[in-house]
Parts: sequence; C-alpha cells; structure tokens
Amino acid sequence: TTENWQAGKSIIRRLKENGYEAVFVGGAVRDFLRQKVANDIDIATCALPEEVKLIFKRTVDVGLAHGTVLVIEDGVPIEVTTFRSDGEYEDHRRPTDVKFVRSLEEDLRRRDFTMNALAMTESFQIIDLFNGRRDLENRLIRTVGNPIDRFKEDALRMLRAIRFSAQLDFSIDHQSLKAIQSCADDLSYVSVERVTAELEKMWVSSNLHKGMTYLVSSQLADQLPGDFPFHHDKWSNLGNPQNALVCWAFLCLLQDEPSVTELTKAFRLSNESKGRIKQLVKATTIRSERMFTVDDFYLFDEEILVHAESLVHVWQIGIPPMPIETILNNKRSLPIQSKSDLVVTGKDLMGWFSKRGGPWLKEALSAIEMAVLHQKVVNDATKIKEWIMNESNSEI
Ligand code: ATP
Ligand code: MG
Repeated sequence: TTENWQAGKSIIRRLKENGYEAVFVGGAVRDFLRQKVANDIDIATCALPEEVKLIFKRTVDVGLAHGTVLVIEDGVPIEVTTFRSDGEYEDHRRPTDVKFVRSLEEDLRRRDFTMNALAMTESFQIIDLFNGRRDLENRLIRTVGNPIDRFKEDALRMLRAIRFSAQLDFSIDHQSLKAIQSCADDLSYVSVERVTAELEKMWVSSNLHKGMTYLVSSQLADQLPGDFPFHHDKWSNLGNPQNALVCWAFLCLLQDEPSVTELTKAFRLSNESKGRIKQLVKATTIRSERMFTVDDFYLFDEEILVHAESLVHVWQIGIPPMPIETILNNKRSLPIQSKSDLVVTGKDLMGWFSKRGGPWLKEALSAIEMAVLHQKVVNDATKIKEWIMNESNSEI
C-alpha cells in the first residue's frame, strides 16, 4: 500500500500542476491516522470529472453522475471525486442529484462522521475542520453537524455508525446515539440492499458484539426484518466469526419462528447465500440432536460441517464437542464424496440389464451410491455389478 499512497501522491501532484486543488479524503485518511492499512484510497478535487479525464491517460467512468472518475496510475486504480455538496435530500435517502462545488470545506461538511471528514495533503498534512482527530483519539463516532438533521437526510448513516463501531471498536457519541434512537423509524426509507450491505460488513467485523449491542440499544434492530432477539450471552459467545454465512445462520437459529426462507428473502440475499445458510441451519439443528452420521458427512461439505460444529455450542449448551479433526477425518475417509465418484455410470447399468433408460436407472444409481457409501459394496465395477444383479434378483 506504500505503492498506493505513492500513486495517490502523484495523482494529487498532477492535479495541482494543472491548477486544481486535490487532497486525500475519507476512510483512507482515517485509517492512515489510526496506522491501519486503508481499504482504498480516495482523492477529492475541485476539478470537474471532464477536467480530470483530460489530465490522465488511463481513466474509467465509474460514477460520473456522482463526480467519480477512476484514475489508474502506475497500475493502481484510485477514485478521484469532484468536491460536491449533496443537493436536496428526498425521502431520507441519498440525494438524487449532487452539486459540484469548488470548495473543499463544503465537500467535507456533507460527510457523515467527523472521523470520515478529515482530509490530507500530498505531504501528509491533516485538514481537520470538524475535530475529527480529537474524536479519532477518543475513539468516538460523531456526526458532522446536528445528528438529527444528518440522520434525517440519510437514514442509512445510523446503520453506518453502528457498523463502524463494530469495525473499529469505537463508541458512538452520546448525542449521536440519542439521535439514532429518535430517528430509528426512518430506516424503513432505506433500501434493503443497502441495509444488508452494512450488516454484512458487521458480520465480518472484529467487534461484532459491540455492534449488536448498539443495534439493539439504539432500537434500529426493531426496524430490521425478522426479530433480532438479543440473547446477550449468545451473541457474546459467538465471538467474532468474521464470517457472514455463520452470522446469518445464527440469526436464523435465534428466531422464535425459525423460517430461514422468509428471513433470507426479506434481506434479499442471493440464491447462493440462501442455499448455504439453509444448509448450515439444517446441519446445526441436526448436530444439536445427535452426532453427525455417515449420511450427514456425505450430504454436507467441510465448510458447513465445521461451522455447524462451532455454531451448535454457541446455540445450545451441554452438547459433547467433536474435534474438528475428527469431523474432517470422517468426511475425508468416506468411500465416495459424491455420485460422480462412482466407477459405474448409467450406461454400464443399461448394458448389464439390457434395458433402456428410464426412472429405474436413477433409482438403481442411488441404491448403488448408498451401498457404496455405507460400505455394503466396494466402489469397483465387477463388485458393483455382482451386487446390483443380486439385489434385483432378490427383489423379484
Ligand atoms: P470503508 O473502509 O468501509 O470503505 P469508508 O469511510 O471509506 O470506509 P465508504 O462507504 O467507502 O466508507 O465512503 C467513503 C467516504 O464517503 C466516507 O468516509 C464518508 O466521508 C463519505 N460517505 C459515505 N457514505 C456516506 C453517507 N451515507 N453520508 C455521508 N457521507 C458518506
Ligand atoms: Mg471506502
């Protein structure tokens, strides 16, 4: 990332050579002061997007409407955004139109939190108009300006405050927290996708319990789909799995009326995620009732089995643990891992029985699959042929 900062510095220098003001802004400055590696480096400038594009050879239009041009410098992509003040806010969501401005101060003023409203010159001088540095030192999340006004403008900021508390292990300033409590209802104006994206950032954060505590105490949790039963001990026992799948499954397990399908649909998760969460909930439920059987080891993949084993002990107490190594050994020593591991195919069966394909074929293959899995017959063509002929004779 030294390379990233170098690339950023050279972009700023080029903009300044062309007579424009340009600085580092946002999360990158915050993370620089915290001596943490920044996610991505953002630059703000008074140059308009078209002006930026004239200066640099390699650019990509990533969000011209919002004033953002991606500049590729020495192979490093960096977002360069024109200073802007957000236009009118409608419906407590992000503003529909933005106004480009020539002043950095206006650009910083529209930002959500003081720690996110810092700017830095290319020679690493901090521009701190809202005491962001002091708040950063005190590990405080505080809105720029009146918190009620700022949350009324864009209700997602409330959830961003909570997500940052979980990511950074920061507290939310008292006034800001009170404002969240009084504006919590407005979260309903925000699209589910944006809400889900913030929650997913929380799921992979390293202070999940802190975030969950705020989510409930701020009453924002009441605005989310499903019920967020806050079993204090359980969320704290969960620790920091830093894994979205595990957190979604845990949330499903804690619901009074467990309906994985409804909850995952309400959060508009992808079909892929929905399926994985459903499997993990199922495996955890099974594991709470008994040890995994051969069929369980076969049905679930390693990721699901391992997560189910850790989740079940958070969810229920007194279940005898099974070492992860044992689970993996059991899984890996199965005779087959899937149907495709069978040495025989439908074609073989049609040959042996001199019969054309049909529903019988699928049944016979499933029977072979189960027999091999349960070691009634070894995965060998001659042995399987012998076994299946025998089986079909005894059936008649
Ligand atoms: P991360 O490390 O998660 O990327 P970040 O601070 O860079 O953190 P982004 O969501 O990438 O967060 O936003 C970049 C900057 O844009 C923020 O630092 C903040 O200044 C501003 N910002 C983002 N979303 C909002 C918002 N809803 N309201 C006001 N300012 C915002
Ligand atoms: Mg960012």
